Amino acid sequence: WFQPQVNYKTKTLTGVEALIRWRHPEKGMLTPASFIELLENSDQINTVDKYTVGKVCLYMQKWKAEMPDKDFTVSVNLSRKDIQSPDFAKRLTAYVKKHDIDPKNIHLEITESAYMDNSEMLISVVNDLKSDGFIIEMDDFGSGYSSLNTLKDIDIDILKLDMKFLSETQNPERSRVIISSIIHMANALNITVIAEGVETKEQADMLLSFGCEIMQGYYFSKPVPVSEYENMLKNYHFAE
Ligand code: C2E
Ligand code: CA
Ligand code: CA
Repeated sequence: WFQPQVNYKTKTLTGVEALIRWRHPEKGMLTPASFIELLENSDQINTVDKYTVGKVCLYMQKWKAEMPDKDFTVSVNLSRKDIQSPDFAKRLTAYVKKHDIDPKNIHLEITESAYMDNSEMLISVVNDLKSDGFIIEMDDFGSGYSSLNTLKDIDIDILKLDMKFLSETQNPERSRVIISSIIHMANALNITVIAEGVETKEQADMLLSFGCEIMQGYYFSKPVPVSEYENMLKNYHFAE
């Protein structure tokens, strides 16, 4: 499924995140919470993520053919296990190029916690992916322990700031200070911020006043099936 990313200032669609769903024959539609961990622990996540990237490449080819004057970017989620598998960067690059897709149009989301061991290996794979042209996003920024340290060592392009981790706070004023400071720090480091989990107009207005323009969340749209997203691509209309 696809969840749009919107520039709240210009009210335009800027990208989309691919989020996997499992149409289970008996249990119906399952969200990743019920199976990603299992796949990671049983080493099958690589197969599933390869499938996701494959599907995304096919859709991107289709959209390019149908709407040649538009530029499409899609964010895909990678697991720590993907990155640890040998030759991952090389294989991913070959795959994407084979489908005639410019790697810069594929954003690779790597969750903050994957950087936790801050291994040389992870840094080197991320650098390989960057030099092959992919855009690197740090997902779930602020939810773990290693974020600031990692920012120092890895030259990421985009930071995804999750609204959820600050939403249950007793002290909204402190949250505002933290959010605005993260956005200012990112700007100073030349890192784009995408705020995710944006559910209300108040949150969107606050983020924009802090200088964060790109947002994703239920306020704009829930994740939708591909046919619905294709309609948005053809005619995006921001409804307040
Ligand atoms: P994530 O990457 O942090 O993705 C955002 C999650 O937040 C999605 O859950 C999305 O549906 C949900 N969300 C979006 N907007 C809002 C909002 O405004 N409010 C709230 N409360 N939630 C919102 P989803 O689709 O269930 O995915 C859960 C996680 O599963 C993802 O978290 C990601 O880490 C993982 N995942 C999804 N697809 C893949 C995949 O293809 N490969 C791998 N390795 N992981 C995946
Ligand atoms: Ca993500
Ligand atoms: Ca996230």
